[in-house]
Amino acid sequence: MIQIIFPKFAFPKQRIISQVPIYFRRMTENPPKRITRKYRFDYILDYFQKNHPIAETELHYADSYQLMVAVILSAQCTDKRVNMITPGLFVRFPDPYALADATVEEIFEYIKSCSYPNNKAKNLLGMAQMLTTEFKGIVPDDVDTLQKLPGVGRKTANVIASVVFNKPALAVDTHVFRVSARLGLTTGAKTPLETEKQLVKYIPENLLAVAHHWLILHGRYICIARKPKCSECALKNACKYYQTMQKNLNQ
Ligand code: SF4
Repeated sequence: MIQIIFPKFAFPKQRIISQVPIYFRRMTENPPKRITRKYRFDYILDYFQKNHPIAETELHYADSYQLMVAVILSAQCTDKRVNMITPGLFVRFPDPYALADATVEEIFEYIKSCSYPNNKAKNLLGMAQMLTTEFKGIVPDDVDTLQKLPGVGRKTANVIASVVFNKPALAVDTHVFRVSARLGLTTGAKTPLETEKQLVKYIPENLLAVAHHWLILHGRYICIARKPKCSECALKNACKYYQTMQKNLNQ
């Protein structure tokens, strides 16, 4: 059983997915002989909707500016580490104007315990300066516009658009990329963008934002990169990787 650990922080929005109409047929315990990609999506989305209707980011934030900073810091770094850094950072730089007035060296001192602090300090300063000079200090809600900000790639832009602005966007990070491929939700996807395009085809629009968190949390706690915990995974009946492993064992 997946154990989803929710942060103690009170998030501004809580999506009650259990109120979303159930579109998916009930799954039988025994999978069909030929498992299609559609079956995998139905099974997996059905499972998450019933068992983990609410799944949210583990990053701590209070507004769109803080989430932007936290997501930039989280690249190649754990959410736990970012959550240790941001309280002090947000006290010193409570809004983009305060951050835009800082120096790279000053920002570096606050974030030096995360990975790539030099680059991230430069990106945070550049992001804050552009936000204040071109966007009146307001975080844009559009994925393409967001990507103009330094340090903001497609993944970060999708996170901001979906989490803050409730837009139907699906951010693909390393967990989403890996878990989707193992489960067989994607086939032959070589880049996060290819993964995103394949997932978006099959996941209903109203579930895109939460599906991002489902796949991340599943990858973080169950379908771990080095050694997936298949024996305790509730999705194995629909998982391509697991079925291939079983087939190889039986040969
Ligand atoms: S069965 Fe194993 S490989 Fe498949 S999703 Fe679960 S943990 Fe990952």
